[in-house]
Amino acid sequence: MSGKAAAVCLVLLAACQAIPAADAPQADGPLLGGLAAVDITPPVPYRMSGYFHERLSDGVLDPLRAKAMVLAQGGRKLAIVSCDVIALTREITDPARKRIAEALKIPPANVLISATHTHTGPLYMGVLRDYFHQRAVDKTGSDDCEKDPYPPRLIEGIVQAVTKAHAALKPVRLEAGSARQEGLSFNRRFHMQDGSVVFNPGVLNPRIVRPAGPIDPQVGIVLCRDAADGKALGGIVNFALHLDTTGGTKYSADYPHYLEQSLRRTLGEQFVCLYGTGTCGDINHIDVTRRERLTAERIGATLADTVAAKTGSLGAVHADLAAQSRTIELPLPQFTDEQIDQARADMPKVGTRELPFLGQVEACRRLAVHKRGAATMKHEVQVLRLGRELAVVGLPGEVFVELGQAVKKASPFQTTLVIELAQDCPAYVPTRKAFAEGSYETVNTHVTSGGGERLAETACELLKQAAKQ
Ligand SMILES: [Zn+2]
Repeated sequence: MSGKAAAVCLVLLAACQAIPAADAPQADGPLLGGLAAVDITPPVPYRMSGYFHERLSDGVLDPLRAKAMVLAQGGRKLAIVSCDVIALTREITDPARKRIAEALKIPPANVLISATHTHTGPLYMGVLRDYFHQRAVDKTGSDDCEKDPYPPRLIEGIVQAVTKAHAALKPVRLEAGSARQEGLSFNRRFHMQDGSVVFNPGVLNPRIVRPAGPIDPQVGIVLCRDAADGKALGGIVNFALHLDTTGGTKYSADYPHYLEQSLRRTLGEQFVCLYGTGTCGDINHIDVTRRERLTAERIGATLADTVAAKTGSLGAVHADLAAQSRTIELPLPQFTDEQIDQARADMPKVGTRELPFLGQVEACRRLAVHKRGAATMKHEVQVLRLGRELAVVGLPGEVFVELGQAVKKASPFQTTLVIELAQDCPAYVPTRKAFAEGSYETVNTHVTSGGGERLAETACELLKQAAKQ
C-alpha cells in the first residue's frame, strides 16, 4: 500500500474506533433466511456493454441472473441483490426498491442492489446506448436490437428475485470470514519509464517500471446455512477483480458463473452464490509479466477452491440485523458549452479510429455529466449489519481498491464486505492519488478528486454507528 493510501487508513481508523462485539446487545428472535435467482438474460441481438464500440449479442454462454438473499429477524428485514449487468442506475434501483418496500415491507435503506459488472451483458442505459439507439432509429426508423425495452425487465427480475427469496424464508444461521486469494488479480495501472501512469500498458511492455497501486487479496465470504440440517443454502463471495474476462458476443455472467458452478459441486445444487464485486476500479486479471491470459473458467474454479477450503472454518455470526444509509452530495466535473459541443461533434467518431481512445471516453463522459443537468450528484452509501461480527457496505461506482481496503481496515466488524456498483453508477471512483496521476479511470468518472475519500469516510462513519447501535 502506498504512503498516501496508508494515510487514508489512518484517518479512517481515527474516525472509527473498534467496538467490542461482546458488549453489544443481542437481537431478538430467530434468524430467517431465503435465497433465489431469476433469469434476466435479454433476447438476442440486444447490444452488449463494456466497450466503446457497438457490439451485438448473438447467443448465450450462460444465463444472466438477479440473485437475492433475504434475511428476517424479529420484524427487521434486509435484502441483498446482485445482478449480472455492467452497472445499475437509480432509474432501475429506485423503482425496484419502492416495489420491494410496498410488497414485502422491506424499507429501501435495507435493500442493497449491486451490479457484478459483467462485460457480456446488455448495454441498456447511458450515453453510448442512447447514441447507438438513436442512430439505428434515424437510419431505419426503428431499433431492431431493442424490440423489448430491457429496464422494465431488469426491475421485474430484481423484484421477483427478492420476492422468491422472501417466500423461501426459513430458520437459518450465518457464518462469515475471509480467505486469501493470490494470483488472480493485478493492479492495472503502472508507472512507466517516461514518468507517466497508464492503465493496461500491455503484457511484457519493456517501459513498465512498477504497478501504481496494490491489489486486495482478501475474499469475503458469507454462508447461509439451513438451521435444521446445516445445508448451505447460499452465500455471498466478495472479491476485488474486474469482470471482463469472457469477452465475445455471447451473454455470460463471466467468472462468477464458474464460481457458482464449482461451489455447487461441493455444497450442493441448491447453492445460490451472490457475487459482490469488490472495489476493483483499478484491478483486472491481466498479469503483464506473462503472455498467458487467465480465463473466466479458471478464475471461477480457483476462487471456488479458495472459498470451499474456508467453508469449514468460518466464524459463527450472531445475527443482529440493522441498516444504515446516507446520501452525500459531491461536485460533478464542470464543462463549458464549447466542450459539450465538441463532445457532441465527437460522438460519431466513438468506436472508430478517427479519435484517440481517451478522446472517445471524454466525449461520452462530458455528455453523460451534462445530461445530469446539475453541478452536483447525490451518492448513497449503505451499511447492512448482518450480525455483531459482520457488515456489508455498498458503494456506488467502480471504486479504486485502496478506498475499499481503507474501509475494511477501519471497520469495527470482524468481517466487512465492501461491494461496489451498488444502487447507482458515477463511473470510476479513483483516489486523490490516481486523479493526480491521470489516465483512463480519471477521465471516465463523474466524481472529482477527493470524492472517493468522502465516500469511504462516510462508509466508515456508518460502520461505526452500526456497531454501536
Ligand atoms: Zn469495466
